[in-house]
Amino acid sequence: MMIIMKTSASQEELENVLASVKGLKLHPHRISGSERNVIGVVGDGRPIEPSNFIRLPGVASVIPISKPYKLASREFYPENTLIPIGDHVVGNGTPTIIGGPCAVESRDQILEVAKAVKEAGAHALRGGAFKPRTSPYSFQGMGEDGLKLLAEARDLTGLPIVTEVTSPDLVPLVADYAEVLQIGARNMQNYALLKAAGQTNRTVLLKRGMSATINDLLMAAEYILAQGNQNVILCERGIRTFETATRNTTDINAIPVLQAQTHLPVILDPSHSTGHWEYVSALARSGIAAGADGIIVEVHPDPACALSDGAQSLKPRRFKRLVKQVNAIANALKAEDISTNPLQ
Ligand code: PEP
Ligand code: MN
Repeated sequence: MMIIMKTSASQEELENVLASVKGLKLHPHRISGSERNVIGVVGDGRPIEPSNFIRLPGVASVIPISKPYKLASREFYPENTLIPIGDHVVGNGTPTIIGGPCAVESRDQILEVAKAVKEAGAHALRGGAFKPRTSPYSFQGMGEDGLKLLAEARDLTGLPIVTEVTSPDLVPLVADYAEVLQIGARNMQNYALLKAAGQTNRTVLLKRGMSATINDLLMAAEYILAQGNQNVILCERGIRTFETATRNTTDINAIPVLQAQTHLPVILDPSHSTGHWEYVSALARSGIAAGADGIIVEVHPDPACALSDGAQSLKPRRFKRLVKQVNAIANALKAEDISTNPLQ
């Protein structure tokens, strides 16, 4: 439920409403607008009685939130959430470009890719140090040594780091090295991990589980938000369908659906959603046209020799071309005044 305060409400009236919310063992989340304050009230699923609040001094109105996810819903926060990564802002209309290898493999490899994606116009460098592989016999990542190499790549290029964290006990370590904690598809419903990431001050890039519904994804995001971390970026990365021509099926629908349902930024991973480098650029372009706030793309200097996901990795030259195309599409939408906001 949302408690909308009157524009004339005093600080004391606001404090009084916050105290009443807490008194009922509910959780208040304060949103300070330029004109008025709004308090989001989250409970434990039991119905919340609006009459508890509507009669309090300073309260203008009380609006129920119909969705099971509260803090993630657009009803709760109608504006787009903007999330700074380095000197770029995710969600403000300029496509966010994250590029880098599936996994950090060596010093030479990560430094070479970091320089290449920076030169191509990326805003952040991706690279897994802890890899959640489907097979226990596949390369599992370089661990902390990989994180150290990512930090070196950041020092070299200035690019913020996006890297995956695979278990709650690794959260402090990964948060020490990376600006953005990636939670992967296989861990989207690892609630202990979601809570641990929610307790950090790091941005979380939450990828959709391969068999998760959009609602499941938003409920997973809610776990992070409920811990007090408001900086969550959602990532569509393809879902399992009956189709076998591609590794997964890019659910382009999810982009406008998420943009309508949540204020959180939404990016597309066309690498995992297709599994083949030949299709990556087409899907990246369609994601931006559909209203994605950015893309995360796997890039490798020598995909044939990559230790993971070589088949879906772009070479740096093709990635550079893709960044130009994606920016051209975003500029064309702006020039034609085409809104990608599904609610407009
Ligand atoms: C990755 O980004 O390399 C990865 C493992 O992605 P996902 O969790 O989407 O499979
Ligand atoms: Mn990968």
